[in-house]
Amino acid sequence: MKLAIIGTGYVGLTTGTCFAEVGHTVVCVDNDVRKVDALTGGRVPIYEPELEALVASNVSAGRLSFSTDLPRAVADSDIIFIAVPTPPQEDGSVDLSYIEAVSQEIAVSLRPEYGYRIVVDKSTVPVSTGSKVAQVIRRYAPGDVDVDVVSNPEFLREGSAVNDLLHPDRIVIGADSQRAMDMMKRVYQPFNAPIVEVDVPSAELIKHAANSFLALKISYINAVAAVCEKAGADVTQVARGIGMDKRISPHFLNAGLGYGGSCFPKDVKGFINVSEQLGEPMNILREVEAINEQQVPRLLARIREKLWVLRNKRIAVWGIAFKQNTDDVRESVSVKIIKALCDEGAHVTAYDPKARETGAAALKGYPVTICDDLYECTRGAETLIVATEWREFALANFGKVREMMRLPIIFDGRNILHAENVLHAGFEYHSIGRRSLYPKAQSPQLRDGDNTAR
Ligand code: NAD
Repeated sequence: MKLAIIGTGYVGLTTGTCFAEVGHTVVCVDNDVRKVDALTGGRVPIYEPELEALVASNVSAGRLSFSTDLPRAVADSDIIFIAVPTPPQEDGSVDLSYIEAVSQEIAVSLRPEYGYRIVVDKSTVPVSTGSKVAQVIRRYAPGDVDVDVVSNPEFLREGSAVNDLLHPDRIVIGADSQRAMDMMKRVYQPFNAPIVEVDVPSAELIKHAANSFLALKISYINAVAAVCEKAGADVTQVARGIGMDKRISPHFLNAGLGYGGSCFPKDVKGFINVSEQLGEPMNILREVEAINEQQVPRLLARIREKLWVLRNKRIAVWGIAFKQNTDDVRESVSVKIIKALCDEGAHVTAYDPKARETGAAALKGYPVTICDDLYECTRGAETLIVATEWREFALANFGKVREMMRLPIIFDGRNILHAENVLHAGFEYHSIGRRSLYPKAQSPQLRDGDNTAR
């Protein structure tokens, strides 16, 4: 089928590429000329595992192209997907101006003689957006165009987006006409995944409810972790014990510094906002947010207990991206930590395998040094914080890290390091929801100020 994707970002580019990979002819449209020029010149502007090779092979097979010409894409495509940003506004509501603008552009580009078209909302939107998009199209289209508006929320995870798209758990299609549903099922037929066929508002709600539930699981285990710290229990073991119950599942039960990224924070806010507008406030999600917001201050308080005054202390931070395997730093917890440390006058060095450029942009104006090397980042540091769960951090040579650092203190904000490795190298090891551990030879005085149970 001939597909157009409007918005060539993390979702649009990966989705478009995977649609091409299964045999559709896809044009990815963006109004950012530099992005389209880069892609047309063979450069993929984001880091996502496997994506670059897949883009190249589909471009050379003639199934994937890039353009700034939205009217042409509308003229040439059976189905037009919208994958533009839906950022949060000050009051927590979703900024739908990008969706509105693109809906209008699509509307004025449609012509009755093109025949039937489907406009699909792939962006994450509050319930009822589909009917607004349909209204905009009816209002601005020239003449009587034959169009259905469908909701098809996306569930990919950055860092494993290609695999998630090619092997999805399920595909959600919200359509109010059988013709649209049948055509959408044809688009997804090559993926061989279960399809959830629902109406448009239900599809929209599935996305907000799913992301909010995942955020809730994260905050739940983080709240349990806080109790574990006080009680001398180990949250990793607790999570394992509860996660083996099939009704609960082990996923999203890793205690840590909380959720970040461009989706969870804004989708939780968006769902709270829409539920309030509908007069059925999801107050449970306010607590999810509150727990999440406590994670960075809790970490900083524990570091202050160790180092006392943070001004002029050297602190190394591993990880700038909001999670592993991505260069995306939007709403990254690590960026929040670095900014807070800088505000307290600490000298911060940071390292990330892929988010050095995006990190530098997000931290512009902060006196942080972004390093090219994992070990160099720790030179002279008095504490190392592991803020993102990149695998290479767990595999580091901690003997070498110890030689670089001034004091042997590690805060593992993602519980990913192997305690034996860091203890063996002479570090004291602080993590989330677990007892702090000390190397055998360390003098008891050094332990003062640590309030976690032993
Ligand atoms: P993004 O910022 O990476 O990409 C959006 C793209 O849209 C940008 O390239 C921008 O230039 C382009 N754009 C904006 N206005 C445009 C216009 N008028 N015409 C053409 N292009 C335009 O955003 P993203 O992360 O891909 O997210 C897009 C949507 O998908 C959001 O609603 C998000 O919530 C949702 N989503 C994101 C993820 C994720 O992991 N990033 C996962 C699932 C759903």
